[in-house]
Amino acid sequence: MRKLAAGNWKMNGTSAELGEARALLTAHPTPGCDMLLCPPATLIGGMVQIAERSALMIGGQDCHAAQNGAHTGDISALMLKDAGASHVIVGHSERRADHGESSALVRAKAITALTAGLVAIVCVGETEAQRNAGETLAVIAMQLEGSLPLAHDNPESLVIAYEPVWAIGTGRTPTLAEVAEVHRFIRDTLIRRFGDPARQMRLLYGGSVKPGNAADIFAVPNVDGALVGGASLKASDFGAIVAALGHH
Ligand code: PEP
Repeated sequence: MRKLAAGNWKMNGTSAELGEARALLTAHPTPGCDMLLCPPATLIGGMVQIAERSALMIGGQDCHAAQNGAHTGDISALMLKDAGASHVIVGHSERRADHGESSALVRAKAITALTAGLVAIVCVGETEAQRNAGETLAVIAMQLEGSLPLAHDNPESLVIAYEPVWAIGTGRTPTLAEVAEVHRFIRDTLIRRFGDPARQMRLLYGGSVKPGNAADIFAVPNVDGALVGGASLKASDFGAIVAALGHH
């Protein structure tokens, strides 16, 4: 399984920052892992041009559950695909929290994304209160149950990102044993649900992945890559994470 380093720029970046994508490609023209950047929608077109015929793939950060229609300000999976994106993140905890997105809505978005020919990166993760209450695995189980398509047999097109909410943007991470426990649990849950193809589905860890902790996290069983926020904004930091993943 080829690992995946995915960067989520969130609501950061104007055309001036496209140089970071250029610098990333200059430093890592043939990375040892798949390399994806998800910039804000305004930069997708420009970044797709930079990434043409290169190892860099471009994705969206969200899509609407409908193919098109009267949804002012939203973007559809079809539009992302048309702009040159290959992936889309759905169910990020910031969308779940800021926009009240339910798992049922995340599932609808994932299905629309897959139908449009995009790889769907579905995010799950517990809050700090849920972890402290010993509810982590129950929360993950519920989010997986509600957010994933009912059936899916193409391991290439469905990626799960485990992102503890309390680890996002905080500089705090779970212990390696805690990451291992949740990733094992997600793998087992996917296998029960989808059968053997789930052995090949990529499970990303996300939450304060930095150049300094990437190698340790990538050595954890069932960690097939990372979803990186803050450290994906700078080519040097993201490049170091790409290099660490390429060695696994
Ligand atoms: C994220 O939001 O997906 C994320 C992992 O952010 P950060 O790397 O900044 O914690």
